[in-house]
Amino acid sequence: MEHVTAGNSFAALAYLVAGVCFILALRGLSSPATSQRGNRFGMIGMAIAVVTTLVTHLPMQGVGLVLEGPQGSVVATGPLFARIDIVAMLEILAAIGVGAVIGIVTARRIAMTAMPQLVAAFHSLVGLAAVLVAVAAYLNPMAFGIADMVVPMIGQPFAVINPVSKVEMGLGAAIGAITFSGSVIAFLKLNGNMSGKPILLPARHLINLGTLAAILILVAQFAHTQDGWPFWVLLVLAFAIGFLLIIPIGGADMPVVVSMLNSYSGWAAAAMGFTLENSAMIITGALVGSSGAILSYIMCRAMNRSFLSVIAGGFGAEAAAGGGEAKEQRPWKRGSADDAAFLMQQAEQVIIVPGYGMAVAQAQHVLREMGDKLKEHGVRVKYAIHPVAGRMPGHMNVLLAEANVPYDEVFELEDINSEFAQTDVAFVIGANDVTNPAAKTDKSSPIYGMPVLDVEKAKTVLFIKRSMGGVGYAGVDNDVFYRDNTMMLLADAKKMVEEIVKALD
Ligand code: NDP
Repeated sequence: MEHVTAGNSFAALAYLVAGVCFILALRGLSSPATSQRGNRFGMIGMAIAVVTTLVTHLPMQGVGLVLEGPQGSVVATGPLFARIDIVAMLEILAAIGVGAVIGIVTARRIAMTAMPQLVAAFHSLVGLAAVLVAVAAYLNPMAFGIADMVVPMIGQPFAVINPVSKVEMGLGAAIGAITFSGSVIAFLKLNGNMSGKPILLPARHLINLGTLAAILILVAQFAHTQDGWPFWVLLVLAFAIGFLLIIPIGGADMPVVVSMLNSYSGWAAAAMGFTLENSAMIITGALVGSSGAILSYIMCRAMNRSFLSVIAGGFGAEAAAGGGEAKEQRPWKRGSADDAAFLMQQAEQVIIVPGYGMAVAQAQHVLREMGDKLKEHGVRVKYAIHPVAGRMPGHMNVLLAEANVPYDEVFELEDINSEFAQTDVAFVIGANDVTNPAAKTDKSSPIYGMPVLDVEKAKTVLFIKRSMGGVGYAGVDNDVFYRDNTMMLLADAKKMVEEIVKALD
């Protein structure tokens, strides 16, 4: 089977349109109000890219010409004409169909709380795809148009791969393998199959740096000689380093890791785009790679962490050491739904702080109902979103948008934090780490340095969680529970808010 490229200028134009659609998609996704439109642009761009690739790279089959001489001796052979390879075409369409069915079923079934691990799982597939393309290109370079056939005087003809393609293949395969094994570990940690706490190997920085250096040397060796061994050894080392890079990362650093792996998967795809000479893949990979890197940077800033210290890992190790530490036996106040309704009805302003527990309880719809009721009572209602609340970037924004909470009531941390001091009630629903004042004061805390919402400055804090024993993602106690101005509402978030709504009626 060989690939015949046709209509290159048409393809270039179509890929350019697809690239513009992807840029519009990213732009749309930057705000909840335009995110649906952004998603549609993304889908249109991807449809254009897939169809263009299919029609310009139709799998063709040469129908052979054989000229026979006397006594059946072969005088000449050669392709007479080429026709579409129907079997290969059906295989491609079947693969697209199977992928589409898996995608649709997963998207419909997945719970919002399981999105981060789903994203990690999908990143692992992008990494694996890059590795498989690199392996296929190495094993059959002529089919990818990246080699010249050399016919020696003695011996078998062999393919010499272009040096630049070998560098692209080596780097693409290495980044793909790191993305694959790193994403598998991130998936296992986020899915609870593996402890979220950092696992710290002795001399891990030395091991990691040494392995990365070895991978680069092997890429150079492969580009120089085209021997098989550097290619296979660099793949094994890259799989290992993906694993080694992610196991020491724990605690509150997982959001950065998810977006960092997102970035890696983009660069792996871009590298493979060069090997396949597919500009749509290069553009898309570069967009995913750079947007993932920018998101990682924004998240690091939100958590007051340097990108290098995240990569170096080990964050949250102190919490791991004290995993089973006894909780403080300090007095705290318990309230009921009636108490909460009474306090909020009297308030001039209520700031609602949603967190991961709201997602678990799926309390966003009834929460909006509560907000509407409070507004009917003349209370000003605002929502405060911490950049890493929940378990994925934008988690709370998505849930509040799903419940039709007006966008103009939703504020980012830096826009609303100064208002808590003038607010009657801070209503914390299933958030914990993002409200923990230890991040501001306790240098030994695993979340020290992360900016947090200053809920404790409100006149009253109403704090919904299921029990005093439960901890947040970082596994640390929260001083707000024990403050004089805090009233704990211990129940499932949805049930508690339903009762508050009844009480408000
Ligand atoms: P936390 O994980 O800190 O706290 C969640 C709280 O919700 C807990 O206090 C828990 O207590 C409570 N809860 C859980 N289920 C329910 C329920 N059904 N009803 C009522 N309460 C419930 O969440 P935050 O949003 O405050 O912080 C996010 C944390 O996750 C940060 O540490 C962040 O770094 C990390 N993270 C963020 C990611 C992101 O991209 N946003 C990705 C990965 C991690 P109890 O069990 O007692 O009910």
